[in-house]
Amino acid sequence: MAREKQTGIVKDDRYLNHCAGEDHPECPERLRALYSMLEDPDVAGRFKEVTARSATTEELHLVHSSDYVKQLEATEGAAFTSLDSDTGTCALSHEAALLAAGGLCRAVAAVCSGEVHNAFALIRPPGHHAEKSCAKGFCLYNNIAVAAKFAQNQLGLKRVLIVDWDLHHGNGTQHCFQEDPSVLYFSTHQRHSFPGSGKFKERGKSKGKGYTVNLPLPTGCGDGDYLLLFEKILKPIALAFSPEIVLVSAGFDIHVADPLGAMTVTPHGFAGLTRSVMEIAQSCCGGKLVLTLEGGYNLDALRDSVKAVLLELAGITTTDTAKLLATADRRKTDRVLRKAWRIHSRHWPSLAAFLDPDIRRPRSPMKWLSDWWDESAAYLRS
Ligand SMILES: [Zn+2]
Repeated sequence: MAREKQTGIVKDDRYLNHCAGEDHPECPERLRALYSMLEDPDVAGRFKEVTARSATTEELHLVHSSDYVKQLEATEGAAFTSLDSDTGTCALSHEAALLAAGGLCRAVAAVCSGEVHNAFALIRPPGHHAEKSCAKGFCLYNNIAVAAKFAQNQLGLKRVLIVDWDLHHGNGTQHCFQEDPSVLYFSTHQRHSFPGSGKFKERGKSKGKGYTVNLPLPTGCGDGDYLLLFEKILKPIALAFSPEIVLVSAGFDIHVADPLGAMTVTPHGFAGLTRSVMEIAQSCCGGKLVLTLEGGYNLDALRDSVKAVLLELAGITTTDTAKLLATADRRKTDRVLRKAWRIHSRHWPSLAAFLDPDIRRPRSPMKWLSDWWDESAAYLRS
């Protein structure tokens, strides 16, 4: 079988039935744009479809309370139910939500059984904000948390790495695993944005201390900046953790044209990030990698970026990450590297080999002051 036929995709028209409310940014058109992109001549026929299924109640209970599952079941058939200020359901939303969590589990199973090499679940509603007992931020069930628990409980995997590059912090995912050293949660997100969690110092609790890694980022971070943080922070930690599968909360609201964010990532950058997580998966677990769609609200940007990710996953493109890394703005990234070193180096000594001595040394008061000045000026400009 040709290498490019080994990437799986999850798609199902029933995901289009979920409507979160009138003029809602998380709309069916997002997936419609992606499903029509799959017909493009350079994409059509190159991916293997993995059939979605509904998550079982037992699978949902690995993450969510039974009262919450009942609350969502009760929305079935109702024209509109408001669950929080920006999360609503229609009559068919619960069916879509069950298929989203279950479809991602199917993708994980297909990768673990070798049916496909890696996979991208093109599903909605998204999941990473959903908490144990409540909906939040357009999310109903926490798809990636359910899939990680499924990988452990049903497939017997011991260690799962979750990478979350969405614009927003995945509060629900973090809370699910913050005391669990068997699931490492790594998130980059725009600081001071919804939902407000994901500070550097949130690094896990009790036995899970060190297994939550948060990098809140200044606005304006682009392709090279993200890739540099992946290569210098995520990679050394991930290689030391040695996951048996890598799952990605792939949000495309860090695209330069996204209406909700203020980052500057391009499709080329998304391909570079995909290459970076592919290399981690290749080093640790034979390439076992599954991405799931989270945010991304500019339809053209979403379409072009998901296409770039799919082509990279299938090995049709191979992004030159060294070239992309050279575009990083060290004024933006060095502060993040310094903070991450200060907070995580004790738990992850492997970071030392990836960070310059200058980053690992405490700064002189003069250097601290000039960095503060540069950063404040950049903040005021943004
Ligand atoms: Zn988001």
